[in-house]
Order: sequence, then structure tokens, then C-alpha cells
Amino acid sequence: MAHPAFLPSNVAVITGGASGIGFAAARRFARMGLKVAIADLAGEKLETARATLATEAGSENVLAVATDVTNVPELEHLREAVDAKFGGADILMNNAGIQPGSSVFDAKNWDSILAVNLFGIIRGSQVFGPSMIKRQKPGLIINTGSKQGITTPPGDPAYNVSKSGVKTFTEALEHELRNTKDCHVTAHLFIPGFVYTPLAAGGRTEKPAGAWTAEQTVDFMLERVSAGDFYILCPDNDVTRALDEKRIFWAAHDMIENRPPLSRWHPDYQDKFTAFLRDTD
Ligand code: NAD
Repeated sequence: MAHPAFLPSNVAVITGGASGIGFAAARRFARMGLKVAIADLAGEKLETARATLATEAGSENVLAVATDVTNVPELEHLREAVDAKFGGADILMNNAGIQPGSSVFDAKNWDSILAVNLFGIIRGSQVFGPSMIKRQKPGLIINTGSKQGITTPPGDPAYNVSKSGVKTFTEALEHELRNTKDCHVTAHLFIPGFVYTPLAAGGRTEKPAGAWTAEQTVDFMLERVSAGDFYILCPDNDVTRALDEKRIFWAAHDMIENRPPLSRWHPDYQDKFTAFLRDTD
């Protein structure tokens, strides 16, 4: 059974809703009869997404608001626009994200990655959360994290830091919500695998075999939210849930076993990690 927040005529707000996973979610929600508000950077992409959704679901059920999630007044304007057109939000999907690349000793991109991926989610939750709680209806705040915020592979430290922060914030948010009287809103950490979208395409023009589509990922998210999961750990065509669990277990055990950090990529531990994968099969 679908989560009660997915009732037809309920309202979903999706940041980063003009592309990739966010757009697939908006489309899916609209097909389920929800009213959808997509928020994304101003421009043609947002207008095209709005027009597609309006054709499929009727313009009375669709709102597109140019919003930079790094800007609190713009997030507040988004909430006011949603209130004015639809009377409030039942579902907030804080999903806007960027991955322009980063390295440890180069300041480039750190501020923008943290501003969009981490503060965009914190501020989005702060701007929408209190009014969602006040509705006293079942509601959802779904924050898009990443496996890179959990097993933190080398190569893009700013992105990993931002997504580790999303995990920590969303855990705190869920704790707060479940300890708030008369609150029917729950928070969920949505952890996509490898999804073929502009963010992850890396110049490819066709979906690599290992990737999931955005639609598959959204279907999985809906199923797991409806089942009540907080951690929505998505597989893809290369990585099973069992493999993810082993990688997460290994990463957590770096501290418990007093190994160096990121030992999975440390030459002294690579054989041990391979043996661990084999022996736990
Ligand atoms: P995408 O690039 O297709 O979509 C991201 C959207 O966010 C874009 O439309 C972009 O314009 C928007 N955006 C960027 N900066 C913004 C800002 N300041 N304000 C408002 N909107 C902004 O990429 P996607 O893969 O669909 O990414 C969605 C989320 O999924 C991101 O948070 C990303 O980190 C996460 N994610 C993606 C993958 C993957 O493999 N694609 C894996 C794990 C997590």
C-alpha cells in the first residue's frame, strides 16, 4: 500500500525538479494524481519541464518556481507560491544537487557544493518543515543523499562531505520529527545508486549497462518509503544491496578495527577487503 502522503490531490514539492531524478519523481507523482511544484534554477530547462508536466497532468496541477536552493528568500518565495496555488506541501523532496568535482587542497567548488548539496537541504527542511508539521497530516521530507556520503570513496571530497552532512542532518531531522507532538511528517534519506542523469552522465550519450534509469530509482524510492524505510538504499545494475551492505560494514569497521581511513582503497588492505567480500558471500 502506498504511503498516505501519496494520496491523489496531495502536494509534492521537488527541488532540482527540472532534470534527472527530480523530474522523474515529479512525473511519477503527477501520474499518481498529486499536484506537483518543481523548483530549479531559472531557465529553459525549468520551463520545458513545466510544459511537459502541464501537458501530462494539466496546468492547474503543476507549478514551476525558479528557485536557487542556496538562497533562503527564494526558498521562502517557493513555499509562498506553493501555499498560494495548492494550499501547502505534503511532500518535500530536497533533491537539487551538483557534482562539479573537487580535491582536498584546491578550494575550487567547495563552497558551491556545500551550499547546494548540504545547505540547500538544511534550509529547504527549515523553510518547509514547520508548516508541514502544522498541517497535522501525513507528510514526507525526502532528502537525496548518496552512497558517497556513507562509504566516502576517494576522488571528490567536497561532494562526499556534503552528502555525509545530508545523512547526518536527515537522521537528526527524523529524530526531531518523531519526538514532536502531533507530528505526522517523517523524514527519509534517499540514497540512489548509479543513475543515468545529466549529473552522472560524464559525457555519455547512452545509459551504461550498470546504471539505473531515474524512473527505476524513483519507483524504488516510492516502494521503500511506502514500506516505512528511513534509509532508502537503492541498488543499480552493478551493485546489489548485499554488496552495498558489505561496503558499508567495511567502512564502519575502519574505526572499530583501528584501520586507516578509506582502507578499502589502501594498498595494504586491498587483499583483505577482497577476501572479506569473498568470505562473506
Ligand atoms: P541532474 O543534474 O539531472 O539534476 C539535478 C538538478 O538540480 C538539475 O536540474 C539542476 O539544475 C538542479 N540544481 C542544481 N543547483 C541548483 C540550485 N542551486 N538550486 C536549484 N536547483 C539546482 O542530476 P540527478 O542525478 O538527477 O541528481 C539529483 C540528486 O541525486 C542530486 O542530489 C545528486 O547528488 C543525487 N545523486 C545522483 C546520483 C546519480 O548517479 N545520478 C547518485 C547519487 C545521488
